Amino acid sequence: MNSLPKQVDCLIVGGGPAGSALAGLLALRGHLVMLVHDGRNRHAVPLETILPAALPALFRCGLQSIVRAATEVDQRRHGARWSSAEWVWQAIERPGLCLWRNTFDAAMRDWALRQGALFVMATVQDLLPTDPSAPIFLQNSTSVMPVCARMVALATGRRGAGRLVPIQTLAQGVDTATFALRFEAPESAQKLAVVEAAASGWSWWIGHDNGGSAVVTVDVNDLHRRGRAVLLREVLDAASGPIAEARNVRLIGAVRATARVQTTTAKVLLLGDAAATLDPLASQGTEKALVSAEAAACAIDFALRTPALKSQALAHHAQWEHDLWQAHARSTVEFHARVLRFADEPFWAMRRTAAEPERAGPLPARLVRAPELIHTTALRRVVDQLIPEPAVCLPASAPLHRLGRVAIAPILAAFAAPSDVTTAIALAGKDPALFICGSAAVRMAVHELWQRGFLRAP
Ligand SMILES: Cc1cc2nc3c(=O)[nH]c(=O)nc-3n(C[C@H](O)[C@H](O)[C@H](O)COP(=O)(O)OP(=O)(O)OC[C@H]3O[C@@H](n4cnc5c(N)ncnc54)[C@H](O)[C@@H]3O)c2cc1C
Repeated sequence: MNSLPKQVDCLIVGGGPAGSALAGLLALRGHLVMLVHDGRNRHAVPLETILPAALPALFRCGLQSIVRAATEVDQRRHGARWSSAEWVWQAIERPGLCLWRNTFDAAMRDWALRQGALFVMATVQDLLPTDPSAPIFLQNSTSVMPVCARMVALATGRRGAGRLVPIQTLAQGVDTATFALRFEAPESAQKLAVVEAAASGWSWWIGHDNGGSAVVTVDVNDLHRRGRAVLLREVLDAASGPIAEARNVRLIGAVRATARVQTTTAKVLLLGDAAATLDPLASQGTEKALVSAEAAACAIDFALRTPALKSQALAHHAQWEHDLWQAHARSTVEFHARVLRFADEPFWAMRRTAAEPERAGPLPARLVRAPELIHTTALRRVVDQLIPEPAVCLPASAPLHRLGRVAIAPILAAFAAPSDVTTAIALAGKDPALFICGSAAVRMAVHELWQRGFLRAP
C-alpha cells in the first residue's frame, strides 16, 4: 500500500458494481483514480438478473464489453402470478442477463484496473475530514495510508455512507425486509424465474444448475409483530410455482431493503445504492449502479476540469439520482397497485400510495413567478459532457433550468406578472427555445413548476 501515490484525482470508496464502473470510466477519461474496497461482498442475493430493457442503456455507457463478459445470457423462462392467480409468461425472444455477484464484482474491479485505476484492499472507517484538502486515511490489517484526493466518491452500498459523511434521507418507501433462501428443486424448476404475490408479501424464485434461490419480501412492522418464521411460511405456502416444490430450505441472508434516496452536505459524490436504493421488486439496482457510475463519471470529470463549479457538479449528480429514484418509486407504486386480489391487505394497501405525495388538485387559473427565485448556474448533460447553463432555484432547493426538454426560462418570463395560464402558455410558446415542444409539454412544465413552488397562485 505504501508504494501507491498519496495524491490522486479521485478516491472512490466501495468496490461493488457502482464503484468499480466509476473507477474504470474515470481512468478511461485519463484521471488518476484510486478504488478502495474492503474485500467484503454485501449483496443480498448471490444471483441477480439484468432486465432486457436495461441492455441498451448499459451498452451506451461504454460498459458493453465488460458487462457481456461478466454475465450470462438469461435463458430462463420468466413468469408471474401477480395481477391474478393465473400464470403469465414472458416471451423469451428478448433475454436479459444474469450474474453471480461475487464473480461479476471481481470482474468489474479487474476491468477497472485494466483501464488504469489503482486498487487498494482497505477500508475508510472514520468520518471524512470537512477540509477537502486534508488527507483521508485508508486502513488495512498491516498499515494506514493517508491519501489526498481532489474529488471523493462514495459507492459504499445501501448502509456504508453514514459512517463516513453526514446523511439526510430525502424520501423513502415503506419499510421493507427481504430474506434470501436457498433450496433444492426439481430440474424442471432450474430453468425458471418467477415472481408471485401473496397476502403479506411476495416471493421471487430464480432457478440455477444446483437448485435455486428465492427472495421473500415482507413488511418490517409486520415482521416485528408476527415474527419471521410465521411470515416467511405464509408467503412460501401461498406460492404455487417452484417454491411450492422446493426442499431443504436454508436461510442465507436478510437485508433491510427499504427504497430510499439520500444526500449529504459533505463535498463528496454519492452513487449507486449509497445515493439511492430501489425497491427490490424492480430487480434493477445493479443496472442502476452501473448507469449511476456513468452519470457520476461525467460529473466528476467536469468538476476536475472546472474546479470552480465543483458544487454544481455534485448538485447535478445528486439531482440525477433523486429524479431517477422518483421515477422508479412511481413505477413501483404502479406495480404494487396491480395486485388487486390482495388490495385490502396492509402490505399492498401501504405500497399503493406514492412515496412522495405530490400537491394534488387542479392547476389554478392564474399564476405568478415566485418572488424569491434566485438566478444561478446548473449543468446540462450533452452526450458525455456537462455544459453550464443559466438556471433558477428557490432558497435551499436544487437549481432548475429544464424539465425534460422544456427550457423553463421562457415560462417563468411569461409569468413575471400575475397571468392567466392559457395566455402565458401561448406567450411562452412564441420563444424560440420552446418552438419544438408543443403546448401540451409546456402546460405539463407549468404544472410541474407550480407543484415545485416556482409558480404560485397570486
Ligand atoms: C433482495 C435483493 C435482490 C436484488 N436483486 C437484484 C437483481 O436481480 N438485479 C439487479 O440489478 N439488482 C438487484 N438488487 C440490487 C443490487 O444488489 C444493488 O442495487 C447493487 O448491489 C448496488 O451496487 P453498489 O455498487 O451501489 O453497492 P454494493 O453492491 O453494496 O457495493 C458496495 C461495496 O462497498 C464496500 N464498502 C462499503 N463501505 C466501505 C468502506 N468504508 N471502505 C471500503 N469498502 C466499503 C462493500 O463491502 C461493498 O462490497 C437486489 C437487491 C436486493 C436487496
